[in-house]
Amino acid sequence: MRKPVFAANWKMNKTIHDAESYCDSLLKLKPDTTVADIVVAPPFTAVNAVATRLKGSGIQTAAQNVSTELSGAFTGEIGLPMLTEAGCSVVIVGHSERRTLFGESPGVISSKLERVISGGLTAIFCIGETLSEREQGTTDNVLKHQLEMSLKPLQALLSDRDRQLIVAYEPVWAIGTGKVATPEQAQLAHHQIRVILGNLLGTDAAKRIRIQYGGSVKPDNTAILMSQPDIDGALVGGASLAPDSFFDIVRIGSVV
Ligand code: PEP
Repeated sequence: MRKPVFAANWKMNKTIHDAESYCDSLLKLKPDTTVADIVVAPPFTAVNAVATRLKGSGIQTAAQNVSTELSGAFTGEIGLPMLTEAGCSVVIVGHSERRTLFGESPGVISSKLERVISGGLTAIFCIGETLSEREQGTTDNVLKHQLEMSLKPLQALLSDRDRQLIVAYEPVWAIGTGKVATPEQAQLAHHQIRVILGNLLGTDAAKRIRIQYGGSVKPDNTAILMSQPDIDGALVGGASLAPDSFFDIVRIGSVV
């Protein structure tokens, strides 16, 4: 039985002040972290404020990115020890916006995953096909390629650390567009991902690894998505920006 995991990806939104009042509102709603893991990913500037506000609640704080390097002459980058000190326990790696807007390759993503997992944190590893890849019928190959390129170099590391890996299936055409994958499309992709994970990391690991769906998740489509056997949670962008809407997604998704 996999514990569902819901993550709020705020992207480049919210000041420290906004972030603190969001946390206060979310905490007042009393989300239940015994039935689902709950993660909030603010921009770097608000990571420490969020982690401080959420301390003791069971809600985890995530970063949206991390450097491949630990420290040094890398202007504009943030290293894992800085995130750990700021209170992060989870890092989102390889979001499609990082791949397409900032040119992150599967090799770079693999190095970031290694950094996060060997540093003792949990990685949310994002994969997904574009609209043209789906229309050309290459979704399965794209997912296989993304998983293999980034996870093959980490097979030894993951052999006893697969619990530190969460995969987020995010069809690029569904992110921020209001176009959600049908439950059948999502289930098919999640099942395929689990098969590929089984080939790469073994069937026991594949059964344990949680696979989130991401792409225009909202309170009113959460139940149908979460009713699919291989969907273990959601990575939520737009609908996570309001605490009551993110809370509703967690509440609805936790009881399906
Ligand atoms: C995301 O940013 O990961 C995402 C899924 O965004 P949205 O929920 O807005 O589609």
